[in-house]
Amino acid sequence: MKNIIFLAPPAAGKGTQSKLLCDNYNFEHISTGDLLRAEVAKQTTIGKDIDAKMKSGLLIEDNIIFNLLIDKLNNEKNTEGYILDGFPRNIKQAEKYDEILKENNQKIDYVFYLYLSKEEAVKRITGRLFCPKCGSVYNEFSLDCAPAVKDICDKCNTTLIKRADDNVETINQRYDIYMNETKPLIDFYKNKSILYELDSSLDVTEIYNQIIEIIGVNL
Ligand code: ADP
Repeated sequence: MKNIIFLAPPAAGKGTQSKLLCDNYNFEHISTGDLLRAEVAKQTTIGKDIDAKMKSGLLIEDNIIFNLLIDKLNNEKNTEGYILDGFPRNIKQAEKYDEILKENNQKIDYVFYLYLSKEEAVKRITGRLFCPKCGSVYNEFSLDCAPAVKDICDKCNTTLIKRADDNVETINQRYDIYMNETKPLIDFYKNKSILYELDSSLDVTEIYNQIIEIIGVNL
């Protein structure tokens, strides 16, 4: 069993690489952003509060994140490992997650840091489209990642939509929060010798091949 974390600024391709790995191996993809969006869709009181925070680009409280995450981890036991996408997002989350892993005799095997400049993040965010049915992510401005038919999901034919937080106003906020809260995790995991740096401006397949080379095909 291997546990993987993707660490990156918004729109660097964490979700895309996680999905590719899950298509080819028996990993469980856990995106805290997706867990939160599912909570928002339920329109509960807590969901409405999460929605407002996400729309303005703020991080959600750690206790909410852990409740959703632990619930998910408890329901997904039969995999080759977990891919965490969008978690941890600050040192407190990382330390608490270490404790949870220790209690379960598990560990993190690889942390992939996908680096991307703010300019490129803004460009990607404004073109990002996602499928509300299967979660596939596209970019209308990129030859590499555009859907074959405009605004339609290649995989399930559903009409693609924009995420409510993908706009120029919130991207600055999200990138700044990333720099202040999430980027310190790079040293945190470097010190544990499990950090691997990848250039997010390369094309999707090239990054994927680099990941496979690092984790090896026989998991
Ligand atoms: P991206 O990384 O492209 O911004 P995500 O789907 O990972 O997209 O996150 C979207 C939003 O969800 C964040 O801006 C934040 O509001 C919230 N969020 C996701 N994961 C976490 C987390 N681990 N802790 C706090 N907030 C989170």
